[in-house]
Amino acid sequence: MAKNSSKAYGLNEIRNVGIIAHIDAGKTTTTERFLYYSGKTHRIGEVDNGNTVMDYLDEERERGITIVAASASFPWTSDGNSQLIHLIDTPGHIDFTAEVERSLRVCDGAVVIFSAVEGVEAQSEKVWRQSSKYKLPKIAFINKLDRMGASYARVRAEMQEKFNDVTICPIQMPVGEESTLEGIVDLIDGNFLWFEGDDGSDVRSEDIPDDLKNDFEVAREEMLAILADYSDIIAEAYLEERAIDSETLVREIRGLAIQGDIVPLFAGSAKKNIGIQPLLDGIVRYLPNPEERGVVQAVNPSSGAVEEIGIDDSDFTGLVFKVLAGGSADLLYIRSYSGVLRLNDKLLNPRTGEKIKVKRLLRLYSKNVEPVDEIGAGDIAGVIGPAGVATGDTLCSPSHPLLLESITFPDPIISIAVEPKSSKDKDRLDEVLRILCREDPTLQAVTHETTGQRLLSGMGELHLEINCDRLRNEFKIEAKFGMQQVAFRETLLNPAKVRGEFKKTIADQEVWAEVEIELEPAPKLPEGLAVSSELPKNLPLEWRESASSTLLNGMKTGGNWGYPLIYIKALITELKGDSTKTTDAAVAGAVLDALHAALGHGTKLLEPLVRLEILAPENVIGEITGYIQARRAVIHGIDDAGPSKKLLCEVPLAEMFGFGTALPKLSGGRASFSMEP
Ligand code: GDP
Repeated sequence: MAKNSSKAYGLNEIRNVGIIAHIDAGKTTTTERFLYYSGKTHRIGEVDNGNTVMDYLDEERERGITIVAASASFPWTSDGNSQLIHLIDTPGHIDFTAEVERSLRVCDGAVVIFSAVEGVEAQSEKVWRQSSKYKLPKIAFINKLDRMGASYARVRAEMQEKFNDVTICPIQMPVGEESTLEGIVDLIDGNFLWFEGDDGSDVRSEDIPDDLKNDFEVAREEMLAILADYSDIIAEAYLEERAIDSETLVREIRGLAIQGDIVPLFAGSAKKNIGIQPLLDGIVRYLPNPEERGVVQAVNPSSGAVEEIGIDDSDFTGLVFKVLAGGSADLLYIRSYSGVLRLNDKLLNPRTGEKIKVKRLLRLYSKNVEPVDEIGAGDIAGVIGPAGVATGDTLCSPSHPLLLESITFPDPIISIAVEPKSSKDKDRLDEVLRILCREDPTLQAVTHETTGQRLLSGMGELHLEINCDRLRNEFKIEAKFGMQQVAFRETLLNPAKVRGEFKKTIADQEVWAEVEIELEPAPKLPEGLAVSSELPKNLPLEWRESASSTLLNGMKTGGNWGYPLIYIKALITELKGDSTKTTDAAVAGAVLDALHAALGHGTKLLEPLVRLEILAPENVIGEITGYIQARRAVIHGIDDAGPSKKLLCEVPLAEMFGFGTALPKLSGGRASFSMEP
């Protein structure tokens, strides 16, 4: 089944697939089955036993949730062809939306898993919409049909109502529900499938039993009616009442799914091993290969010109979408967009100008890795590289430098002070903080220049908690942690034009520089801070660079209350120096003096708000409303959501600490929420 590992897979033999779901919908359980049936694990991992392959960090095991978007590759033979599926796991927890973004970016299609009991939950709805931003073709799986309270029909209707820009198209029909779930009917081939053996690996098929014939006819008719709305071929055959063979149906469904008109719907139970192999076939049949996703755009870093790169271009271009930091070398997850990458090739990182040699090229089977000699376009692999490569970097052939669109991440919103237990641990702590930040672009570590306090900032309570655990358990750092606090920001009250000077005698030598800077508040500036300069080019480059970088870093370090500044546009208008007295350090000193003067004109605090969405049964919604109103929430509306109510509001983030534990108590465990900065 597995191909010779050193051979590159052909374009039409690869699927890059994201797997997305609300937490607990069964993503990990489904993934484990995928790996097991493909032969890549020898034992079905159970989330409840804490031994799954995908959740490989200790914290993930302890908490039973998936944090890091790990990529797992496995072969799958469908319709007689061996294919390589790269499954890119995405976390279902709100604190990790950046992980979701980065995974979606490198996928060509997605499998979205819903629970047949809970239905469309806040996070799966959010990620579905996120995936639509990348125009990702999707297939959907209604899981947990074996559970009490499961309803295929209800969840399907709910999906159609919520995602009304596509048509949900069932291509299967579950047989039985809750404890009577037996198998599924394939509406395309018209047969009944059930799954024998303890591990469900023995897929049996027979003609539709008599007692199901009626339901089958109705369901197939409905599927054809949906397809006829989009496909002329099916419409004609349907109107003329001609039989349509399976091959035609698969081809048409594939085309419509890839165009984004329909989302083929599958059914089953991952835990009971029902419907998994057909879902794998569905990935191959209905989701695009890298070539079908089309060209991508890249920028030539020297000319600034936009180029379209085709998958068959000979020069290699790839995007680093995840970094696992090691001591001196990192494991870089790369999605290739063009060309062939071979062992010992040299790659250029146009962002840093650095060249790296590909000494190890790996297939990533999640926990296990396998060395390969080359990978082709559209493929995903791991490269061991130096520490300077970051998530979102492009790596390309040195002869053809290109920058793919980088991955953007939101600013962190919660901070915690981290202090080494003794001063001898200081350097090691700083090193580990750098490693954590290198792996996770939504994490920031800043050491305050004057107080020396180290602040670690991230996207939410759980996000920071997990990273503090990693410091303690994985890196064995003895550290003290402060209370979690909201990462306030500061901005200038008014525009300011300020001057700064540095003048000192150091070792009998006079050192001097002077600058002038204009700063103005710029609410909603997408990048938060912007520094430009109109200094003449005849000034030494080092002075000009020192001025810009000191100003940017100075603003990031903190304002009058010690919080980082945001929404400010700064322009360096003048720099006075003298070749005998002026050094880079003097320029930096003058800039900080000017910044200090600007802060003297006054700043104001900005408090982060979050958009909060709560899904809860009607009888507890009053209680919940009271709770959040007491916490300065502004309620935007309460809508019907099937049997439940959906409450939308905006709340200061500072009021949200502990909400994750308070809500189950308020609602008897029957409410869920999602939060977005
Ligand atoms: P994830 O958070 O989406 O990765 O969900 P998991 O795969 O960790 O599953 C959450 C819980 O639901 C675990 O206790 C699973 O054993 C259970 N589970 C997953 N799939 C099914 C299913 O099809 N039926 C039932 N009854 N339980 C399931």
